[in-house]
Amino acid sequence: MNRQHFIHTIPSLIANVYLVASDAGIIIVDTGFSNAARNVLRAIEQLGHTRTDVRLIFLTHVHMDHAGSAAELRRQTGAPIAMHRADVGKARAGKHNMPNGRGTAGKLFEYAFNGLRLQMRYEAFAPDILLEEGQTLKEFGLNARVVHTPGHTLGSLSLALDDGVMLIGDALINQFRVGMPMYGEDNALAYDSLRKLRALRPRMLYSGHGKPFSGSDVERYLEIKGSSAERIGA
Ligand SMILES: [Zn+2]
Ligand SMILES: [Zn+2]
Repeated sequence: MNRQHFIHTIPSLIANVYLVASDAGIIIVDTGFSNAARNVLRAIEQLGHTRTDVRLIFLTHVHMDHAGSAAELRRQTGAPIAMHRADVGKARAGKHNMPNGRGTAGKLFEYAFNGLRLQMRYEAFAPDILLEEGQTLKEFGLNARVVHTPGHTLGSLSLALDDGVMLIGDALINQFRVGMPMYGEDNALAYDSLRKLRALRPRMLYSGHGKPFSGSDVERYLEIKGSSAERIGA
C-alpha cells in the first residue's frame, strides 16, 4: 500500500498550513490563525477536491497560529481533530500564555507579553483523537507515522511520511534561517526531540514557519547549537 501523496503549502504571512493530498483524500496539517479557514477551504477546492475529502485535521501543537482554525475547519469539513494529549488543556481553554522565551530576544518578548498580560486566544475545542508516538495514519489513507517531539510544547507532534518527508511543526523553523523558535516550554526536551528527528534521517522537513529544508540542515544546526545550547540553556 504505497499511495502517492503530495504536500501543498497554503501560503500565509506567519504559520504554514499543509494539505497532504493522496487519492485517499486530504489531511490538513495545522490550521493557521482563527481567520484561516476560508483560505484553507479555497485551497482544497483549487486542488480539485471538496471539503468532504478531508479525512483528518492533524495538529502539530496547540498554539494560536497552528490551532486557531481547528474548530471552524472541523465544522466545515466534518473531519476529526487529532493531536497529543499534553496540549489538550490549551485546546479546551481556547487560550495559552506566552511560552518561555529562549535567548535574549525571546526573554524580552516573554517579559513584554507577560507584563501586558496578553493571552493568545482562539476558539476552544476538544480533540476527537489523541495520538501517541508510533501510531500510524493508515486508517486515514496516509502512510505516515506519528513522532512525539516535545519541547516547543509538551504535546508537539511530528509526522513521518513513508518517503522520508517529515512535517515537524515548530520543532525547528526556517523563518530567516533554520533554527529553534524563540519560545518553548522545555528547551532540553526540544533538543532531545531534534536528535530524535535527526536519527530518523529525514530527507525533507516541512515546518510551521518558512520554507522546507533538508535533513542536513538539521545536522548542521545541531552541530552548531546542540552541545553549547544545553550548557548555557539558550
Ligand atoms: Zn508554536
Ligand atoms: Zn508556530
